[in-house]
Amino acid sequence: DFLALAQPGVQKLSPYVPGKPVDELARELNLDPAGIVKLASNENPLGPSPKALEAIRGELAELTRYPDGNGFELKRRLAERCGVSTAQVTLGNGSNDILELVARAYLAPGLNAVFSEHAFAVYPIVTQAVGAQGKVVPARDYGHDLEAMLAAIDEQTRVVFVANPNNPTGTWFGPQTLADFLARVPERVLVVLDEAYIEYAEGDELPDGLDYLAQYPNLLVSRTFSKAYGLAGLRVGYGLSSVQVADVLNRVRQPFNVNSLALAAACAALDDAEYLAESRRVNDAGMLQLEEGFRGLGLKWIPSKGNFIAVDFGRDAAPINQALLQAGVIVRPVAGYGMPTFLRVSIGTQAENARFLEVLRQVLARG
Ligand code: PMP
Repeated sequence: DFLALAQPGVQKLSPYVPGKPVDELARELNLDPAGIVKLASNENPLGPSPKALEAIRGELAELTRYPDGNGFELKRRLAERCGVSTAQVTLGNGSNDILELVARAYLAPGLNAVFSEHAFAVYPIVTQAVGAQGKVVPARDYGHDLEAMLAAIDEQTRVVFVANPNNPTGTWFGPQTLADFLARVPERVLVVLDEAYIEYAEGDELPDGLDYLAQYPNLLVSRTFSKAYGLAGLRVGYGLSSVQVADVLNRVRQPFNVNSLALAAACAALDDAEYLAESRRVNDAGMLQLEEGFRGLGLKWIPSKGNFIAVDFGRDAAPINQALLQAGVIVRPVAGYGMPTFLRVSIGTQAENARFLEVLRQVLARG
């Protein structure tokens, strides 16, 4: 029995369930993939930046070589952009990789990580995968209850995961809340501030985690090129922290964890301010469009600062999800996140949002 032989933490794990791929649903429904609307994985509906695509093409001739294992150029640009030294940057195969590096470096059987009830699914996975315990703290108004999270920290706690904005709820907290929290977390506990969606909230009332790096050597800010930068398929993310924490993460990192196409595309994407601004515009407009649609359908939702929104049907959302799938619309059930009456919908293009709302209207009309 190879399940029984796995380490105890792993035996209790449930695997991550990704959004259904477009091609898979197209096959099932015998439809052209172009007829499917996928608003399930918080991807950027604009497609990648043309500058990133050009950089990838330029890199193809070098595919026989290993990538730059130190990611020198991308780290240089990120350091410059973020006002830190290159020694404070850790590159990851997506920001999931950064979360896993933290778990491998700082967690073990007998130790624990604290995270919120409706938190990103990868926190419990990386925690249990190394045999550590996940301490789940009840949410408040679906968001992080940072007071309760502080109270949950004990002698065995080594990591606290907080996401701002949070996935799948879209909830957020302000600068004062973060400052008070950081000031009260014991120094030996690493705070992972997951800012996967921060580019969608820039200029809003959210704190910039980077502002706190100088003061808190136990802070790690993780970010990604998967969302606003539109490069989810390439898998590239990064952590920003004190030099010591970055040094530790780089010890456990696989030597070539970020591939050469991803390195080149990420560098180019950082330079494409216009693409980023357009991503933000499309997201802001799409958020309003969905909110208006939900209002028209008499539905409630959780206000969100991400590129997605959790809508509440007030009853089991699984049949609604099934009906949407049958009509070629993929959104994300969040029952596994303790939110069985909700679906999480990523913000798409104007046309995708309209199609989703129209199909949803028909599904709800059928009762
Ligand atoms: N953190 C949060 C809160 C997320 O929602 C996601 C993506 N679903 C990630 C991290 C990881 O994204 P990636 O590995 O693509 O950078």
